[in-house]
Amino acid sequence: MRFRATATLVDILGIGHRYEEAFGRLSQLLDQLPQITNKRARFQGLGEAAQLLIAAGQYDLASSYAEQMLDNIPAGESACKSMYFKLHAEFRSGRMQVLDPAFQTGVDTCVKSGENLVANAIRADIASFDIQQGRSAHAIALLQTNYAYVLRDQYPSLTSQFDALQAQAYWDQGEITHARKFAVAAVDSAIKSEYTEPLSMAYELLFRIEKQQGNFRAALAYHEKYLAADKGYLNDVSAKTLAYQIVKQQVQANKVEVDALNKQNQILQLQRALDHKAVEASRLYIILLLTVLASIGLLLYRLKRSQLRFMGLARQDSLTGISNRKHFVDEAEQALRQAKRFTRCASLILIDLDHFKLVNDTHGHAVGDQVLKRAVVACQKHLHARDVFGRLGGEEFGILIPHCEPEQASDRAEQIRIAIASTPLSEDMHGVMISASFGVASTDSGNYEFLRLLADADHALYRAKRNGRNCVVSGSVTDGLVSPYPMESSEQTASDKVLSASARIEPVN
Ligand code: GH3
Ligand code: MG
Ligand code: MG
Repeated sequence: MRFRATATLVDILGIGHRYEEAFGRLSQLLDQLPQITNKRARFQGLGEAAQLLIAAGQYDLASSYAEQMLDNIPAGESACKSMYFKLHAEFRSGRMQVLDPAFQTGVDTCVKSGENLVANAIRADIASFDIQQGRSAHAIALLQTNYAYVLRDQYPSLTSQFDALQAQAYWDQGEITHARKFAVAAVDSAIKSEYTEPLSMAYELLFRIEKQQGNFRAALAYHEKYLAADKGYLNDVSAKTLAYQIVKQQVQANKVEVDALNKQNQILQLQRALDHKAVEASRLYIILLLTVLASIGLLLYRLKRSQLRFMGLARQDSLTGISNRKHFVDEAEQALRQAKRFTRCASLILIDLDHFKLVNDTHGHAVGDQVLKRAVVACQKHLHARDVFGRLGGEEFGILIPHCEPEQASDRAEQIRIAIASTPLSEDMHGVMISASFGVASTDSGNYEFLRLLADADHALYRAKRNGRNCVVSGSVTDGLVSPYPMESSEQTASDKVLSASARIEPVN
């Protein structure tokens, strides 16, 4: 409906000489055309296009629309009108050399379908071509034969065309009277207040006729009218052409603008796609980075863990799992520094298993290892949280007790001595005797140096061995004190190896 309404509007605007608007609407119409499936609507739209384009001198374009009409004639319509548009465009193009037989076919088609007005419009073109070709007699015959029908139809533009053509043909024939009669008729029948081609033709002829007759005054008057009509007519023609060109330019400009916008849009879409890709890429990049970071983190964690494990291993005694000599010394020194800072007494207990060589020799090295482990477990049962415990080497152990007076230290040593001496042994260790001698030294003299303390404890231990082993001796190198704890006779495992055993605890560095 909208398409058909636009087509009608194009027609009305054309008739009203509002050519720019007409071509503007036509442009819209032609844009919509591809989507129009209704045959009748298409036919109407194409007809308007062909008609208006002929008026604007666009004959080839008009012809192509007329052909489209011919290709798809809706039911109830004949090929008449489309044939007329095509033939009219051909004739107006001025390229015609001979009369195309299609003109007669067109006339016949229109007559057959009862469209006499259109048939006569085609006949007007045939007559016009005949006149151009010097066949005025033939033109007169054709025009005369159909003149009555044209007058009956009362279609001003066609009537005045027939009149003007007859006037011209008669003029060419030299029949001045007829020529004048038809020229006057053409002026009378012409559309009022409009400058048309027949009007211009008629005035020109009248001017020539009067001039030939010597009626110069009348000739001059007609010439003036001819000039006005011709100018008006040409103006109208150029107005149509100009309007067509203007709209064409506008449409092209719009298309270029639309194209530019489309391109811009594409760029924006691409940009957006790129942004999206960039976001995706950076997201991937972030994921990649996070993965790398996580891997690095994991690697660091593993490295740290193995580092800690190695550090632990480096500090540990492999057989018993307690601190090795070096770590024990480090920790003991640190504890002593603390004790010194708070001027609190700290004590060192040195433990040496008795006759351990004998255990090895008698029961084997493996049993000796078991004894070492049992002794460690026995010691650990009597350790406090802050106590520093370690294996100094062989079958010798040290315990540094912070915040501990000499008496307390001796008591603790005694508890541990009893624990070791009463260590339960398994079946395969049957007959193994296990005991240890203890040397205790304290910082009560104001001496917080580890080496000094170690020497004091070692000395006390030496004395413990000398005292018959399996006992605790407390004191420094100088005080010459002996253990306050007497040894039970059953625990005594006397030996003269005291000296050599105690001597193996050597000062660090
Ligand atoms: P004393 O009562 O005088 O201390 O006599 P002892 O036999 O305990 O002293 P000695 O120093 O003569 O012997 C210590 C022995 O400890 C010698 C050595 O073979 C043994 N020993 C040292 N380390 C280990 C070890 O890791 N495992 C075993 N099974 N024996 C060890
Ligand atoms: Mg020993
Ligand atoms: Mg020893």
